[in-house]
Amino acid sequence: WDMFVLAFVERLFRPTYKKDDFVLGKKLGEGAFGVVYRVSWAKKPSSKEGDLVLKKATEYGAVEIWMNERVRRACSNSCADFLYGFLEKSSKKEAEYWLIWRFEGESTLADLIQSKEFPYNVESMILGEMQDLPKGLERENRIIQTILRQLLFALDGLHSTGIVHRDIKPQNVIFSEGSRTFKIIDLGAAADLRVGINYIPKEFLLDPRYAAPEQYIMSTQTPSAPSAPVAAALSPVLWQLNLPDRFDIYSTGLILLQMAFPSFRSDSGLIQFNRQLKRCDYDLIAWRKSVEPRANGDLRRGFELLDLDGGIGWELLTCMVRYKARQRVSAKAALAHPYFDKEGLLALSIMQ
Ligand code: ADP
Ligand code: MG
Repeated sequence: WDMFVLAFVERLFRPTYKKDDFVLGKKLGEGAFGVVYRVSWAKKPSSKEGDLVLKKATEYGAVEIWMNERVRRACSNSCADFLYGFLEKSSKKEAEYWLIWRFEGESTLADLIQSKEFPYNVESMILGEMQDLPKGLERENRIIQTILRQLLFALDGLHSTGIVHRDIKPQNVIFSEGSRTFKIIDLGAAADLRVGINYIPKEFLLDPRYAAPEQYIMSTQTPSAPSAPVAAALSPVLWQLNLPDRFDIYSTGLILLQMAFPSFRSDSGLIQFNRQLKRCDYDLIAWRKSVEPRANGDLRRGFELLDLDGGIGWELLTCMVRYKARQRVSAKAALAHPYFDKEGLLALSIMQ
């Protein structure tokens, strides 16, 4: 209950906005559940700076507002900076939910990995120039490490809050120009397991390109949504039993894969990889054995990158992309993986 009281009090004291406060700009995206625009303030008092993003959403907008408010209170650095959400009732159309965020920047990770320059195009954005390394695999690996670390850090924030995102993909990772870090966006498919909000609506379509093989995040034996107080009491137990956060880890593993292998960055490339992996019963090591002997230069280079420092990147990838959710690492454990730790790397190479 504290949480609800807190949310209520916070709402009372926060400024509220309405439709006329915003001027619509360029359309940024259009999904099944809403349209997203870049917008600016209609009147611009000095306190209101910079552009904003508006999502006009259908009935799922209510859940997305709830998730964004929860994130803002619990793990604000994980996601795009959320300002406000409200129900906009117009006489002509059905009611819409309006959600407003700060405009974080021009590029999603999807835009960035599509560039021929990737990962060098990201280097100066997040690291500044690294003078001490020559261009080449090691340098690319360092940049990819940094992106993945930031993504896992954001994900760990969400998971520690009890939120599973369920639609992690490069299109939903935005580069925040203000903080020079990657943040997660689009909580439209997220589930908050601690209070049973958006408890696996069965009709929801997960993005098949990035979805883990398990169809529902909670086991199908878990009965349908319990009431909120019951769910709050049960959910830590359910979380332990079902490890729903590992769904996001699988998707994050596919992002690491795409960063390492240029050939899997396109839609068709990723779909092809998914088909190959399925044929190997989701055994990444078996997949590698099947493709490596006849690998082209692109593929071989990806393996080479992941094999640096005793194969620590490959090891982490195999901990993320696994058939069984409970065999995948958590975001927190992944952050402690030696892939991210230079001294750990050293220790590992000495051990070997
Ligand atoms: P959809 O439901 O259409 O996928 P998203 O929330 O993912 O909605 O937003 C669609 C697109 O709008 C994103 O892929 C991104 O390009 C852009 N976008 C969303 N939020 C922001 C933000 N806070 N700052 C900058 N761009 C954003
Ligand atoms: Mg999206």
